[in-house]
Amino acid sequence: MIQKFSEANYEIVDFEEFADIYIINTCTVTNMSDRKSRQMLRRAKELNSNSVVVAVGCYAQVAKADLEKIEEIDLILGTNEKKDIVNYIEQYLSNNEENVQLDDVLHNPEYSDFGVISYTEKTRAVIKVQDGCDRFCSYCIIPYARGRVRSRNPQSVIEEITKIAEKGIKEVVITGIHIASYGKDFKTDYKLIDLLEDINKIDGIERIRLRFNRATFNFR
Ligand code: SF4
Repeated sequence: MIQKFSEANYEIVDFEEFADIYIINTCTVTNMSDRKSRQMLRRAKELNSNSVVVAVGCYAQVAKADLEKIEEIDLILGTNEKKDIVNYIEQYLSNNEENVQLDDVLHNPEYSDFGVISYTEKTRAVIKVQDGCDRFCSYCIIPYARGRVRSRNPQSVIEEITKIAEKGIKEVVITGIHIASYGKDFKTDYKLIDLLEDINKIDGIERIRLRFNRATFNFR
């Protein structure tokens, strides 16, 4: 999202600084993260009472009714709205009307692709290839916040990694919500192992890591 704003010529400042727009990328994985998200949203309005305060991400996706009661929040955007965040905010600034934008993530089969991200890191890049989960474990809210399994088009992944390899980055960390399910939603048999083999062919990439919730596996 930072890159989207930079490309649109916005100046990015630290959260604690005075700003015209505050974006809080909310989390809802526990009650504690819900509470912290609400605190940050209120804190933003304290920093500048005339600012536009935007709640985006997982907590916004699942708790619209709760967030609508918080008067400090101006705009509520879900998880799939992140890639178009600049447009949504500019739309809101121009008409002050549509202040809730939430895609139906549970029924949207499309992977929300941010496209190629530019990296400032010199050695390693984290590449998201998958979103959502079909498991619906009884204690977990992720499928409701992120939707069902959606996999990023392999061409898009290869294009991004080729570009970062050209910049000299040698290590990629492949990540997602449930990356073992990568490809489950494709009409072909293309799976995670096929993606890894294609990444392995890219000149300049010397190490591939897979990042799951708590574990990281190294290849090469
Ligand atoms: S597999 Fe993991 S992400 Fe999916 S519902 Fe279960 S705990 Fe949540």
